[in-house]
Amino acid sequence: MMKKIVTVAEIKNGELRNISFETIAAAKIAANGGEVVSVLLGEQEKGITDALIQYGADRVIIVNHPQLALYTTDAYQQALLQIIELENPDGIFMGHTGNAKDVAPRIAMKLQSGLVSDVIAIEKNGEDVLFTRPIYSGKAFEKKKINNGLLFATIRPNNIASLEKDESRSGEVTSINVEIKDLRTIIKEVVRKTTSGVDLSEAKIIVSGGRGVKSKEGFKVLQELADALGGAVGASRGACDADYCDYSMQIGQTGKVVTPDLYIACGISGAIQHVAGMSNSKVIVAINKDPEANIFSIADYGIVGDLFEVVPLLVEEFKLVALH
Ligand SMILES: Cc1cc2nc3c(=O)[nH]c(=O)nc-3n(C[C@H](O)[C@H](O)[C@H](O)COP(=O)(O)OP(=O)(O)OC[C@H]3O[C@@H](n4cnc5c(N)ncnc54)[C@H](O)[C@@H]3O)c2cc1C
Repeated sequence: MMKKIVTVAEIKNGELRNISFETIAAAKIAANGGEVVSVLLGEQEKGITDALIQYGADRVIIVNHPQLALYTTDAYQQALLQIIELENPDGIFMGHTGNAKDVAPRIAMKLQSGLVSDVIAIEKNGEDVLFTRPIYSGKAFEKKKINNGLLFATIRPNNIASLEKDESRSGEVTSINVEIKDLRTIIKEVVRKTTSGVDLSEAKIIVSGGRGVKSKEGFKVLQELADALGGAVGASRGACDADYCDYSMQIGQTGKVVTPDLYIACGISGAIQHVAGMSNSKVIVAINKDPEANIFSIADYGIVGDLFEVVPLLVEEFKLVALH
């Protein structure tokens, strides 16, 4: 049976995040030839909605409202509930991002529906839609099927490939007004930390450092490797707790969940809470001077050695490769 799926797009620094396209690709599978409607909340520009259609949305709904320019739980919840009531979809897909982790369970509660969170794969089995998600900190996976009611899911970034961009696609773009009232919080200003380089959550290559990096200075060596590879620098909580780097770089159960093509773990022991955030990386390289370190049990390639000797050698080699 064909289904109508609503996806919620996300913008960062004025641009659509890749997860917006990945949720559309996931929605296409669930829609089974039906309609995929992408919703964009905030204050939007025309070119941005075109991209949603080019990546597979059949229709785009723009909700422009001053209270949606900056994310708040109440405003987003109210706006999305009104769209859902209007569209009456068979499913709602959001990215498993900070905003959606906050708002999706509240919407599910209001709709008295279930919610499959942190989905990493989606497939059809006859008429059924199966959602795969990690459990026990990524040690196992479960496949969930929703027997009745809404197909409501949040999709983990970087796991479901977006469709090829097709510039010849066209679709309807409508603007809808929503009523937003009784806000319990109003965000007046967001002061962002200035970060340079590649965004960790969307990076294809991540060089991560742990307590073995030993200092803030040590992280500069990792930054050189990340720069040589066009990647981003991440960290274990051990390194963040030791004040070698900022908590915004923390990867793991209580940090960011990442799935790059290449993850290079330097001086990280491989505690289960760290592994929970990076074990789905496509290729894992571990550099650690302890041959018994747990990180080697999940690494595709292991280098037993002192990171302060190994990493500069890698930087040199990658720079040479880049020259040729
Ligand atoms: C509720 C909870 C949530 C948590 N959430 C997270 C989380 O989200 N992310 C996270 O990372 N952790 C998390 N932790 C912490 C986690 O349990 C570990 O303490 C932490 O990951 C350890 O960090 P580390 O591997 O950098 O440090 P360590 O365990 O101290 O390991 C350092 C490693 O560096 C190696 N090393 C030292 N010197 C060198 C050198 N010169 N060259 C090469 N290797 C060297 C050592 O052999 C060692 O293996 C959480 C813990 C709890 C209880």
